[in-house]
Amino acid sequence: MKLRKYLANLGYGSRRDVARLIADGRVTDVAGRQMTEHDVAAHDDLRVDGALLDPAPGVVIMLHKPVGYVCSTQGDSRLVYDLLPARFLRRSPVVAPVGRLDRDTSGLLLLTDDGALNHRITSPRAHLAKTYDAHLANDLRGDEQERFASGTLLLESESSPLRPVALHAVAARHVRLTLTEGRYHQVRRMFAAVGNHVVALHRCAIGALVLGELAEGQWRVLAAPEIAPLRGDATPLSPPAP
Ligand code: URA
Repeated sequence: MKLRKYLANLGYGSRRDVARLIADGRVTDVAGRQMTEHDVAAHDDLRVDGALLDPAPGVVIMLHKPVGYVCSTQGDSRLVYDLLPARFLRRSPVVAPVGRLDRDTSGLLLLTDDGALNHRITSPRAHLAKTYDAHLANDLRGDEQERFASGTLLLESESSPLRPVALHAVAARHVRLTLTEGRYHQVRRMFAAVGNHVVALHRCAIGALVLGELAEGQWRVLAAPEIAPLRGDATPLSPPAP
């Protein structure tokens, strides 16, 4: 791909803007040699203003989403994109959220420009385990674990029951749940179905990927071995132990 198009697709500006960057000598190779539009170089050998390029196409980002941010590209609310370099939203293809977390949910959100991978993870057939920590308004009554695991729980206005959900009670009002599907507001609606209310919800893991020490509002690019299981290239992911 031509350098101009390549950098434009990475969000460095329109093709015209990038032509200007190149003409101004701001695009160089690793040795500082100024690139022309006709030069060819590997991604890792290119620099803009002396800095490494943003991640190459096929990037997967792990973001620790804070409460109050929405998984959308536009709107009046604070957006998860406000936490990422502005160029990420200008990339083509765009770096898009992998599924959604509600505005009031915090935790692990993946974003990628790899549409096939995004589809693979979010497909209803994927049944990829997602682990949540939930704090509740009321004490557990005692039958929730059995009802959630039964595979018969029906959410309001739905006709097909939920797949079994594993519940681990951490305390009377604190649980850890592992879901293998992602219905709209699923965790909040599950607790509404058993007469409780979720006051705080946090996603800690997707498959074997955990947030770990990543601070709230921070993000990092996943390494190839972390992504491989998501692509189905290695042992299927399993959720972390509760
Ligand atoms: N379940 C919910 O209710 N909300 C989320 O954001 C994720 C799962």
